[in-house]
Amino acid sequence: MKLILIGPPGAGKGTQAERLIQALGIPQLSTGDMLRAAVTAGTPVGKAADAVMKAGKLVSDDIVNAVVDERLAAPDCAKGFILDGYPRTLVQADALKAAMAARGESLDLVIEITVDDAVLVDRVSGRYSCGSCGAVYHDTTHRPKVDGTCDRCGSSTFKRRADDNAETMRSRLMTYYRETSPLIGYYHALGLLRRVDGMGTMDEVSAAISKALGR
Ligand code: ADP
Repeated sequence: MKLILIGPPGAGKGTQAERLIQALGIPQLSTGDMLRAAVTAGTPVGKAADAVMKAGKLVSDDIVNAVVDERLAAPDCAKGFILDGYPRTLVQADALKAAMAARGESLDLVIEITVDDAVLVDRVSGRYSCGSCGAVYHDTTHRPKVDGTCDRCGSSTFKRRADDNAETMRSRLMTYYRETSPLIGYYHALGLLRRVDGMGTMDEVSAAISKALGR
């Protein structure tokens, strides 16, 4: 299964991708995670991406396309993959199509997760995660059961993304509507788009995605 999860920042793409990894046994390819790893490692890609990401803008198509193309060539992607955060522009969508066609592959489905803007800003500006296992929490809606201790792994170190604040979030939302939302029409026209309501609980959204996948 070769899938794209598309939706604004905070829609729940990462959460749902994690559940799909378990259910489908295929890897999640998050360009945001790949770019953040490059920033932490201080690679040339990371150096180019750092300031752009902090401003809530998009890293250049050339850089992101190259990162994804290399990742798609890895053996674990042969059975399928879940793209999370890519493509984000029409140029990237075309590059993906070409990269897959070169391997004789094509996309199976594009799942769009929709959520109201006010909810997105609230979700993202309160978001933080465990520094050890990556479990995601929220300042008001989802705190660890024991304050300061991760429910999943017991760690007491937490981190917050540099771009998860109300101001940068507004810029990321604008970028989404301007650059990424045209992809909804693009994939709809190809007959690949399925729309899922992302306003429900995580389980409700998972169920809606399973249904869209015909499972
Ligand atoms: P979110 O979807 O919550 O905004 P991501 O982790 O997917 O977060 O992305 C964080 C940032 O990384 C983006 O705001 C952007 O700067 C950069 N980025 C991620 N994916 C891409 C992409 N496909 N093209 C360009 N920039 C990207």
